Parts: sequence; structure tokens; C-alpha cells
Amino acid sequence: MTGGNRGIGLAIAHALAESGRRVAITYRLGEPPPGFLAVRCDMNEKTALDRAMEVVTEAQGAPEIVVANAGISHSTVATATGRAAWKEVLDTHLTAAFRLAQAAVSGMLAARWGRIVLISSVVGFTGSPGQAAYTTSKAAMLGLARTLSWELGPHGITSNVIAPGVIDTRLAQGNRPKPRDQFLTMTPLRRYGTPEEVAAAVCFLAGEEASYITGAVLPVSGGLGMGL
Ligand code: NDP
Repeated sequence: MTGGNRGIGLAIAHALAESGRRVAITYRLGEPPPGFLAVRCDMNEKTALDRAMEVVTEAQGAPEIVVANAGISHSTVATATGRAAWKEVLDTHLTAAFRLAQAAVSGMLAARWGRIVLISSVVGFTGSPGQAAYTTSKAAMLGLARTLSWELGPHGITSNVIAPGVIDTRLAQGNRPKPRDQFLTMTPLRRYGTPEEVAAAVCFLAGEEASYITGAVLPVSGGLGMGL
């Protein structure tokens, strides 16, 4: 689980632990929460993810479930997005998800069982003004998940995407208030989601109950962007 020290990632870590899984999390800044094997890892440092995977594998064995959750908010219109910002957002979301899957696949192949869950976003499918890099990286996660489904499905490994709507975390609070409220008016359930509601969806996709689901997008959005 990447980015497991707060927000949605921390809720996922708790939910997976409650469902009986041994959970390892990565964190980047500050002190990690207690109760989990925690490995410091900045997704934008070249070798950090591989090192983190080594530490986790040594301590707990090769992971059979991986969740690419680490993410950053970024609000700049497409034409004003500089190359460095574009790269940082794509690296944090898309390249990190790709590398996480790559690093985990050999253990999953050996087990002939695996679950890859990528945390995307509804705005990856609707687009969102002022979020060019964010939406592009989140949309591309679906292409990655579906290709992994084809490549790894024959080996008992599923690969799915979760598309949250607006979830009440620091990341969403960091967005300017106006767009956030606009999202609320477009959400049939008329409230923001909780990290626990996203975590429940991850647990479902990570469990045996979801054994015949791969290449899917599961929205956890209160209906925001439904039908996409
Ligand atoms: P938070 O800001 O609460 O948490 C973000 C997490 O990502 C933190 O654990 C943070 O670690 C980690 N992270 C950020 N950048 C890096 C990096 N370079 N390397 C390693 N870890 C990093 O956000 P949320 O919990 O809301 O978001 C989790 C995921 O859900 C993200 O991918 C986000 O895009 C997605 N999402 C969120 C929505 C929302 O409304 N909240 C809506 C749709 C999708 P640290 O604390 O150490 O910086």
C-alpha cells in the first residue's frame, strides 16, 4: 500500500488489517502511524520503491495485494502547466503505479494469485478544468490496469481501478473551495465520501469475492460522474 500514512491510504491499511491481512505501508513525510510495517518511500526517488519492496518482502514475504494510492493534488490549466509539475504528477500517480505492479508481479506469479488495485479518480474520466496533469495521470491508470488484466489474468492476478469522487481528506481540502462545492452539486448523494468508504471498495476488490472481476473501474463517488 503506497501512501498509507494518512487519508484514504491509512483507511485502506486499517480495513485490510481488519480483514486479516498483514499490511505494509509506505510513507514519505513525518512519522508513520503505529500498527503497520512502515517503509519510507518517495515515489519520485528513483530506487525508493524497489528498496521498499525489498524491505517488505524480507519482513512479510512477497506481497500478493498491492494498492497504488499515493497521490498529490495539482491545479493548473493545461496551457500553464510546466514540464516539471507535469512530470511530478505523472510520476507520482502513473509511473509509481506501473513500477509498483512491476515490482510485485514476480511474487504474484509464483503464488498464482494476486490483486492489483489502482486508486484513480472520477475526474480522470470526466476531465476537470485546471487539473490537466492530475486528470491525465488518473485516466492513464485505466489503460495500465486493463493491460495488466490481459497480461496477468491467465495467472490468477486481477487488476482493477477505483475511481473516488470527492473524499474528505487533506488532498481534497487543499483544492480551492469553489470547485469543491461545485463537485458537491454534481454529486447525487450530496455529500463528500469518507476514506473508509473507499477502503471498503478496496477490500472487496482485494478479496476472494471479487475473483471474477478484472479490468474494471469501480466508482466510489456518490454518483459523481456516473455512467462513465
Ligand atoms: P492525502 O493528501 O490525504 O494523502 C496522500 C498520500 O499520498 C499521503 O500518504 C502522502 O504521503 C502520499 N504521497 C504523496 N506524494 C507522494 C510521493 N511523491 N511519494 C510517496 N507518497 C506520496 O490524499 P488522499 O488520501 O485524498 O488521496 C489518496 C489517493 O486518492 C490519491 O491518489 C488521490 O489522487 C486519490 N483521490 C482522492 C480524492 C479525494 O477527494 N480525496 C478523489 C479521487 C482520488 P505524505 O503524507 O508522506 O506526503
